[in-house]
Amino acid sequence: NSGHPIGNALWEAGNVAAVLRYYAAAPERLFGRQIPVAGGLDVTFKEPLGVVSVIVPWNFPMPIAGWGFAPALAAGNTVVLKPAELTPLTAIRLGELAVEAGVPEGVFTVLPGKGSIVGERFVTHPDVRKVCFTGSTQVGQGIMRKAADQLKRVTLELGGKSANIVFADADVAAAASAAPMSFLDNAGQDCCARSRILVERRVFDDFMGRFEQAIKAIRVGDPSDPATDMGPLISAGQRAAVRTFVEDASAAGHRTPEIAFRGTAPEGAGWWYPPTVLLAQGTADRAWREEIFGPVVSVMPFSDEAEAIRLANDTAYGLSGSIWTRDVGRAIRVARAVEAGNLSVNSHSSVRYSTPFGGFKASGIGRELGPDALDAFTEVKNVFINTEI
Ligand code: NAD
Repeated sequence: NSGHPIGNALWEAGNVAAVLRYYAAAPERLFGRQIPVAGGLDVTFKEPLGVVSVIVPWNFPMPIAGWGFAPALAAGNTVVLKPAELTPLTAIRLGELAVEAGVPEGVFTVLPGKGSIVGERFVTHPDVRKVCFTGSTQVGQGIMRKAADQLKRVTLELGGKSANIVFADADVAAAASAAPMSFLDNAGQDCCARSRILVERRVFDDFMGRFEQAIKAIRVGDPSDPATDMGPLISAGQRAAVRTFVEDASAAGHRTPEIAFRGTAPEGAGWWYPPTVLLAQGTADRAWREEIFGPVVSVMPFSDEAEAIRLANDTAYGLSGSIWTRDVGRAIRVARAVEAGNLSVNSHSSVRYSTPFGGFKASGIGRELGPDALDAFTEVKNVFINTEI
């Protein structure tokens, strides 16, 4: 459905299996506590919520579904899953596999359909106790507003505008060669894309020279070729939206950005778009502030650590980010100072099923994955037993 390169698609299918395996032992580890109290015994239980709805976007349809339904089922809930309009196939297949694997009918139900109809009903239906939503910040805000009517639980995984901060004391060659795939994975249609690069002024030219070579080496092409790094965008609409940040900016009523350099992309059929590197003119640039969800990055120089932190935090979002430095103290200081849920030092990794994932600020509410994921799908019940009678 989404035109992912075959390497990505295989990883994604493997990720669903790994997430299921990781949470398979969770029912036996859903521990409560025994709390000392006067006059009796006090114990807590983590109880399932009931019906949990999982609403998934089109950019990573398989893994994001798994991050919701695997821990929700492991915690004893039933799940209704709604894939995005453009990407229903893997969700339907996962539903079939669940029945084949012996999950009783009705425990895991896949309901493709429009967000404004099926998704909305998940939010308004009184039997649905929780909405686990991944998608745009705007739709997430609407879901939270409506969920308030029934005090329905929500987990929201929303947009991002993450910074990749390269300090002069970093291995600049390594930072430059890793930078392309930090915003080109899935053709930039990635909530964790490092779509803003901050480079310490002293090494700006060195970084940009190496970065350009790395961008030119990216293979954009046929998704069925295992050597392909980046495929097309998902749809004509998505490509038109990305173009409004670059070549169609003035037609859309915005200032035309300054292009530093671009990679290549095939011509002809397909929603191709070349890797594009912009020189940011200032923090008010639309491409610097808004989530583009395409293979476009803006680069800006900075002078010192304090300025890098200030620029990185000058965004409504707070999902992920990267810090490139050889100074351990600085790595820890900056990682603590950047307001984002998932930071990596000298790497761009973000989502591991064994560690928590989620956003600060407008990037969301709650966390998925990791050892505590079941807390988001359970209520704590406290029971006191009088031992004095
Ligand atoms: P979207 O918000 O348009 O749609 C997401 C899902 O919500 C779809 O299944 C859609 O049908 C459904 N939906 C739409 N309107 C609804 C409504 N009124 N009520 C209930 N459900 C509704 O997002 P998208 O365009 O599919 O995905 C791109 C966005 O998702 C980006 O902003 C991206 O950053 C974000 N995203 C976030 C994460 C994360 O983990 N933080 C991961 C992937 C994508």
